[in-house]
Amino acid sequence: MSVSRVPLLDLNRNHAPLRAELEAAFAKALDTSGFILGPAVDSFEKDCAAFLGVKHAIGVSSGTDALLLALMALDIGPGHEVICPSYTFFATAGSIARTGAMPVFVDSTPCCFNISPAGIAKAITPRTKAIMPVHLYGQSADMDPILEIARAHGIPVIEDTAQALGASYKGNAAGTLGDFGCYSFFPTKNLGAFGDAGLLTTNNDALAARARLLRTHGDSGNYTHELVGGNFRIDALQAGLLQVKLRHFPAMLEGRKRVARRYLAGFEASGKAGYPVTACTCRDAAPAIPAPSHPILLPFACDPSTTYNPFTLLFTGDGVRDRVSDHLNKKKNIGARIYYPRPLHRQPCFAAAEANDADFPFSNYASLHSLSLPIFPEMTDEETDYVVASVLEAV
Ligand SMILES: *Cc1c(COP(=O)(O)O)cnc(C)c1O
Repeated sequence: MSVSRVPLLDLNRNHAPLRAELEAAFAKALDTSGFILGPAVDSFEKDCAAFLGVKHAIGVSSGTDALLLALMALDIGPGHEVICPSYTFFATAGSIARTGAMPVFVDSTPCCFNISPAGIAKAITPRTKAIMPVHLYGQSADMDPILEIARAHGIPVIEDTAQALGASYKGNAAGTLGDFGCYSFFPTKNLGAFGDAGLLTTNNDALAARARLLRTHGDSGNYTHELVGGNFRIDALQAGLLQVKLRHFPAMLEGRKRVARRYLAGFEASGKAGYPVTACTCRDAAPAIPAPSHPILLPFACDPSTTYNPFTLLFTGDGVRDRVSDHLNKKKNIGARIYYPRPLHRQPCFAAAEANDADFPFSNYASLHSLSLPIFPEMTDEETDYVVASVLEAV
């Protein structure tokens, strides 16, 4: 069958083979009326902890709430600074600002789009109370130098792992190396819920206990409130449904990587595409704009475990990204998306952070040149080839 459209993702295809298992999980919630915490959540948390190889996994209401809960558990608030990348989804810095702390933005590296460790070192002040790297586009940030800086200053690390469940860093699951790992089960993420849901992980018993308290209004039992928390609970129904999908998650990751390999091979064969770097440059002294060696720059794997979600290209020519994006969206029925058109240091709501635009060469470049292509585990070879051919038509 010839392909004439490719959606950004197709959850129907993801769920169809799991329908009986998902309906059984739904029926269990319906039959027991177990909707808030309880055995379904406990059991899902155990499976997540085992999958990630982490001591504590705490189901929460969203990835955003996982970040907020981690910050609250670390007592971060007014007068504090938290270092995070500028080139990320809004929730990273939004959660920092909501505690009353100031997000301090750092530029990202052109090899993996993740925060520059050298940039972090320069941004540390006596007010820095946490470092929040983001594992963007399914790939871990360079954690060793980040953890080294954090330990040298006695500062905790909160890993925004919303996009990188299933990725690892030197063999350890992304999100399990810092003090907290924060995951999202938003439907477009590597593992998607049937609505909003998230997960908070830690290997620290005391922090886990604090986070669990804060998840339910700081209530230690019988309406005794030790801390001012919130309602950050995952729905038991979501936990039950996600537990089904978690069992199939390794196969889904493999499907995504199969599509990514075909994309990479297809673009490489065109002669129009190369990589932004020949070796990982995460540890360079300063992020740089990649050399325009090819019209298309492909996602580089600093760590081979990268899960390529989303699958993001850079188009080096001026205005080419917008031309390709329009061509795919309007002429070819392809759900390509721009993540992210405006870096956070340029957002009106963060004007108080007083970031100097010249300190963000890569974030600014990526916001004008990056485009993310459809990728989902069930995408066919024909669909992948249609996207490749359609991109090449417009370059
Ligand atoms: C999706 C995402 C979040 C927020 O997760 P939600 O579950 O949508 O609240 C946070 N950070 C990053 C980098 C994300 O991609």
